[in-house]
Formats: sequence, C-alpha cells, structure tokens
Amino acid sequence: MLGGKKQTEPWKSTVKFIGRCPICNTEYKQESARFFAEQDSSHLVHITCDKCSSNFLAMVVFAGQGLSSVGMITDLSCEDAMRLHHRSAVSLDEVIECHEFLKNNLI
Ligand SMILES: [Zn+2]
Repeated sequence: MLGGKKQTEPWKSTVKFIGRCPICNTEYKQESARFFAEQDSSHLVHITCDKCSSNFLAMVVFAGQGLSSVGMITDLSCEDAMRLHHRSAVSLDEVIECHEFLKNNLI
C-alpha cells in the first residue's frame, strides 16, 4: 500500500533529473516546473528558478526503463513557450529576407 500517496506523473521526474539551475546552482523545486507539450514519448517542460528567476526549457524522452533529456536556458516565460510551440519554424527565405533587410539599413 502506498499510504494514500499519489503516483508522480512521469514528466515530474525531469526536475530531479535536471537537478540544479545552470545559472546559480540552486536546486530546482518540482513546483517550479510546468509541463506544456507531449508527443509520443517526449515531453516539454519549462522550469523557472526560484532564486534567480532564469528559465529553462527541457525536452525529456522516456525510452524503456530510462529517460534522456536535452535542455537550454531561455528568456521565454512558460506562457511564451506554450504560445510559440505551436508556431511554424522560421523558413530559410525568411532568414534571408531579414538579412537583406538589415543589410540595407532599412530599420
Ligand atoms: Zn537560478
């Protein structure tokens, strides 16, 4: 018997796996992590550090008995990450157009 303890959702193990803020080395709290997208066995998790307020975005993939993770520091809030997650990627043509725009001092 588990004594009434709820089973932890799998993505929450991400916080333990990542462990500490890469900026200030403070241990992440599970309450600071928010899950916002899932596809097949991969999950996207946003974590905000309680101490320095930096944001971390992690993709966690559950495979068999283990998990792997890749993450990055970001300036996106969780709301921004959720909003932009559904947008299409920037195309090569858009990058070239932006480059030409900046090159011609049109700003
Ligand atoms: Zn921090």
